[in-house]
Amino acid sequence: MRLILLFSALFGYIYCRQTFVGDQVLEITPSNEEQIKTLVQLEAEEHLQLDFWKSPTIPGKSAHVRVPFVSIQAVKVFLESQRIAYSIMIEDVQDLLDQENEEMLLNQRRERSVGFNFGAYHTLEEISQQMDRLVAEHPGLVSKVNIGSSFENRPLDVLKFGTGGNKPAIWLDAGIHAREWVTQATALWIANKIASDYGNDPSITSILDTLDIFLLPVTNPDGYVFSHTKNRMWRKTRSVVAGSFCVGTDPNRNWDAGFGGPGASNNPCSDSYHGPRANSEVEVKSIVDFIKSHGEVKAFITLHSYSQLLMFPYGYTCAKAKNFDELNEVAQKAAQSVTSLHGTKYTVGPICSVIYQASGGSIDWSYESGIKYSFALELRDTGRYGFLLPAKQILPTAEETWLGLKTIMEHVRDHPY
Ligand SMILES: [Zn+2]
Repeated sequence: MRLILLFSALFGYIYCRQTFVGDQVLEITPSNEEQIKTLVQLEAEEHLQLDFWKSPTIPGKSAHVRVPFVSIQAVKVFLESQRIAYSIMIEDVQDLLDQENEEMLLNQRRERSVGFNFGAYHTLEEISQQMDRLVAEHPGLVSKVNIGSSFENRPLDVLKFGTGGNKPAIWLDAGIHAREWVTQATALWIANKIASDYGNDPSITSILDTLDIFLLPVTNPDGYVFSHTKNRMWRKTRSVVAGSFCVGTDPNRNWDAGFGGPGASNNPCSDSYHGPRANSEVEVKSIVDFIKSHGEVKAFITLHSYSQLLMFPYGYTCAKAKNFDELNEVAQKAAQSVTSLHGTKYTVGPICSVIYQASGGSIDWSYESGIKYSFALELRDTGRYGFLLPAKQILPTAEETWLGLKTIMEHVRDHPY
């Protein structure tokens, strides 16, 4: 029986999923503006099928690019001819995927006897079962709120942490980009942490006595399922784009804030395609509608990976936000809290200066909608594994992230507006 299971898993793995055998992730470091321009042009060469995990920004800062096996020779020869420095960050992407898959299968077997393991990656179904268990275990504190359905009709379920009535609220979401698996896993660990610490930890107790917390662990469920079953590198939604063979919109370029501006693509085949119009993605629209109708959301925090950054508005413009000083102070303090646990270093600042100008992002929308405390976190790591962070780093990542979030939440609690 076990053998049959193993073979069927292997069969499904080989025949249904895209494989990345021989693909490498290169760390490419442009030394001047000219070389950055060259890299941007390289990204547009569709036949090379390059997957920019991290875009080039300023001279001296590296870009991370997954290069399919068939393009490796061409890309390396080209970089050398242009005298652009590079090194190999990941030798063979498929090796990491095989390891990840094997660990998930092993863990599934283990969980049947020992119960849910927060230090493992899970399917959407397993995550939603765990959310239901959490609600059942903490009936007076945790409830499930449905805010809509995804393009492929999966429920968008939010966990509400509240001690009664409707209080001003903190919004927290994860996994708007499908392949950023450590974010969904971190969100689930945090959900459990909030529920079990209420009444024990004075900080979370006082936060929940003042504020409700809404947590959406899987913001892009269609993309998440696709990243498990078909293509581990999937980032976008799975909506159909009229007039294109390419599927999906980048849901973090789809918000109504500088929509369609710099740092978003109008090419439906691009990983940063902004979609036909703002809020075209039902996953985005559902959150917008929920937050607007709630009316008392005071903080909006979104979890991404990777790069270890704590950012605040703006992304679509490089102009300074009105609340820059306060946001910067809170973010610096929160980053120190993150670092205090395992020494993980974070960079802090507005999106535009910390990464690059990017329009249609969620925290620009929330900030312009009057939610002063709007933050985006990029969790571990800085590139050694990128999106393929080994499961053994989930718990330390979640623990340190939680300390940072708690610092932000304490500030929100103490600074009502
Ligand atoms: Zn992301």
